Order: sequence, then structure tokens, then C-alpha cells
Amino acid sequence: MEVCVLASGSRGNSIYVSGGGTSLLVDAGLSARELTARLRTAGIAPGSLRGILLTHDHEDHYRGIEILGRKHALPLFANEGTASGIEARCPKGVFQWQIFETASTFEVGDLRVEAFTVSHDAADPVGFVFDDGTSRLCVVTDLGQATPLVRAKLARCHVAIVESNHDYDMLMQSDRPWSLKTRIAGRSGHLSNDDAAALMSAAIPRQMHTLWLAHLSGECNTPALAFNTMRQALVKAGRADVHVDVLSQTQVSRRLVF
Ligand SMILES: [Zn+2]
Ligand SMILES: [Zn+2]
Repeated sequence: MEVCVLASGSRGNSIYVSGGGTSLLVDAGLSARELTARLRTAGIAPGSLRGILLTHDHEDHYRGIEILGRKHALPLFANEGTASGIEARCPKGVFQWQIFETASTFEVGDLRVEAFTVSHDAADPVGFVFDDGTSRLCVVTDLGQATPLVRAKLARCHVAIVESNHDYDMLMQSDRPWSLKTRIAGRSGHLSNDDAAALMSAAIPRQMHTLWLAHLSGECNTPALAFNTMRQALVKAGRADVHVDVLSQTQVSRRLVF
């Protein structure tokens, strides 16, 4: 399996996943033009993609889907709630949906995909596990709390992309309105650095070797804070062997093959 993150953060998200000869994007939350440029930077031909999978109906995850989807005839895989949510916000949009059920397993080409519920203030938000028959990748961002279901999905994987959105103190000290602070820190908001560290130090399975921290807030977090919080928790849990990296809003990640 291969993974490369094109963008991660509150201003746009997209992840390239490839396995068993099938390549796809998880979310396309930048403009189609920017996504095309980043795919080129990563050495990926947009025409090689088999589709775009959507986690949920927030614009930082779907901004580029219509144009990118139309240009390359890519089906858009989403559950009913996410598809309806996006259509409601884009009434003139034309979308080629392939509807999947939340809590189901389905196939896109040779990749097996599990979609599982996460707690977030969107219509029907999900995380994904990808399985190419040998390796498994978990993608779980935009969640307000780590449920037993999230822990169970992580437990099966070799690589995980997990949200480490904010530093709680930086969020509370920011000049954001109180309602927004409580939304972000709430049970349907986003995982803090401490939440992510608590989740992974308790739930990281023996076979997991790489952990990428995702969806960092530009104002209420720093890559160093997110990294150090996770690293310290993993060392304490006896897992200093796990390779931790912080994903970027502006830079394409390395291509990880596992
Ligand atoms: Zn988001
Ligand atoms: Zn969201």
C-alpha cells in the first residue's frame, strides 16, 4: 500500500491512497487547480485515480470534488448524509455519487474499504480503514472523541493518520468566540493534542509502525507541540519505535510505501 498526503489542516484536506493497483483520494478539500498541482508535485497522474472518497460534508474536505471529479470522470464515494449535505450546500453542482453505507465494507477496485462512524458535527461523518490484502491504513480525522469503535479500527492497522487538531490552552487563549471554542473542544468537534496522545498511547497496536498527525489548527497548534505531545506519550507507553510525523497544510508529504 502507498499513501501520500496532499494537504492536511483546517484549510483543506486530501490524501492519496493506493493499493493492489487501485488509487484514490480521500477527500478533495482544496480547489481542483491546487489539488492538480499537488498531485503533480507528488508524481501522481490524476487520470490514474479510481475515485474520491468523502469523509464528511465540510468544505475543507469537498471543495474541489466537483471540478476534479468532472474533469477526470471520477466517481464520488460517500454515504447518503454526506452526499445530501454537499448537494444542499452546492445546489447547482453536478456530482457522480456512488453511495456506500456507514459501518459497511465495500471495494473500490482491489482496495477493501471500511467506513466507520466518528463523532463530529457533520451529517454522517466517517473514518476509513483501507486493506490491500497485506497492509492496512486507518484515516481518522475530524472527531470530537475517541470511541471504542475508533480504537477497534486502529487496532487492526499498520499505519494511521490521526487528528491532532489543537493545543487546548492555545485554543482557550485564542480570540475565537466562546461558542466556537466549545464547538472545537466538544464531543463533536476535533481531537486535541492531548486527546490524540491519550488515544494512541492506549490503543496503538503492536504492528503499527507509522503515525501521521493530521488536521492541525493553523492558529491553535504548532507542529512541534503536536509532535512532542504524541512522542512523549508513546515513549511513556513503551512505543518509542513508532515513527511519528506531522502533516502540513502547505507541503505535500513524502510517499510512504508499506
Ligand atoms: Zn476538517
Ligand atoms: Zn469537519
